[in-house]
Amino acid sequence: MTRVAVIGAGSIGLAIAWRAAHAGAAVVVHDPAPGSGASRVAAGMIAPATETHYGEQALAPLMAASADAWPAFAADLEQATGLDVGFCDVPTLVVGLDDADRAEVEHQADLYRATDRTVDTLTPRAARQTEPLLSHRVRGGLLAPGDRAVDPRVVHKALIIAAEHAGVQFHTAPVTDTTALDADQTVIAGGCGSAALEPWRLSVRPVRGVVLRLRAEGQAVPRTTVRGFVKGHPIYIVTRSDGEIVIGATSDERGFDTRTATAGAVHDLLRHAIELVPEIAEYHLDEVSVGFRPATPDNLPLLGRLDARTIAATGHYRNGIALIPATATAVAALIAGEDPDALRPFDPHRFTPGRTVKESHQ
Ligand SMILES: Cc1cc2nc3c(=O)[nH]c(=O)nc-3n(C[C@H](O)[C@H](O)[C@H](O)COP(=O)(O)OP(=O)(O)OC[C@H]3O[C@@H](n4cnc5c(N)ncnc54)[C@H](O)[C@@H]3O)c2cc1C
Repeated sequence: MTRVAVIGAGSIGLAIAWRAAHAGAAVVVHDPAPGSGASRVAAGMIAPATETHYGEQALAPLMAASADAWPAFAADLEQATGLDVGFCDVPTLVVGLDDADRAEVEHQADLYRATDRTVDTLTPRAARQTEPLLSHRVRGGLLAPGDRAVDPRVVHKALIIAAEHAGVQFHTAPVTDTTALDADQTVIAGGCGSAALEPWRLSVRPVRGVVLRLRAEGQAVPRTTVRGFVKGHPIYIVTRSDGEIVIGATSDERGFDTRTATAGAVHDLLRHAIELVPEIAEYHLDEVSVGFRPATPDNLPLLGRLDARTIAATGHYRNGIALIPATATAVAALIAGEDPDALRPFDPHRFTPGRTVKESHQ
């Protein structure tokens, strides 16, 4: 039986552990604080179209595969645990408030359409028919029917339960050196903490983000995920079926600044969200949270083999929730000795001068 050690009990590490245990491996997950990372903060968008950014087009096939795998993955997780993971099959609207914002939306449309996902242009009237809570000031936008969302906190909780049921063991001592673990295969899935792990010290940096969680108590809530630009500022509003509304997010290159959010950041997020959906002013503000997206120098994940016994599965940046199913499938293939072509753009050696995956196998 293959002995697999997974470093990190965020959603990425847990999904890998769960799938590996199902495939017959003896799996141990190492994490002193499971669920303390970005997976607890994320909004949960699964957005293969509207999370496309210039320079990151190589991610599109993996995002598409993962988004398409999510419905079955969520159903499996629900069956394994009895928990509703909040998979929300509603479309995403992208809107602009003023003329410049509307121009920005049109600019984004070309990028989104290059992913081959369906993206429809809407008139202001059609946008408000799709989402009646939109401000009358909104200047039209786009509809991405395949961009959906899930509740990342329930997903994380469910993954812990599913992994335990599948026989995964949990160790709480922090890992500093991957070579110290007694396993046939070691998977680095420590999010931003992956950068400190010897001997690899992977190129992952924290990108700080603030999100707000609000609650509707009887008020009407959006029936779509609303994204948009308000006077040039990007904003998103994700609504869960239990009445929770998540508003995000800031994005700062400030290292591990764990201080609470500034009043200005919270004010701007609320102001921009309320400009798009005025009803938000009536909701109750439950939580302000700060998290760290694990980013790499080219913003693509590190997903592949480092050497014959070590696999990298980290650096998922803004899309670590969306990429859970595809990452778990890819790592299962790597553990099984396969070398999927689809992982080429994510070679974890690409930032190590003079090193290639083939060399590291020798
Ligand atoms: C504000 C914000 C909004 C986001 N919104 C979305 C979204 O809408 N959709 C989406 O797809 N993604 C989103 N993301 C990104 C997503 O949250 C991350 O990409 C994803 O959670 C990464 O998961 P992970 O398991 O790799 O890391 P994490 O969830 O950070 O977990 C890493 C784990 O590793 C453990 N660890 C670290 N170092 C060690 C060590 N040395 N030894 C043992 N354990 C260790 C930590 O304790 C932690 O539990 C968002 C992120 C932020 C911050």
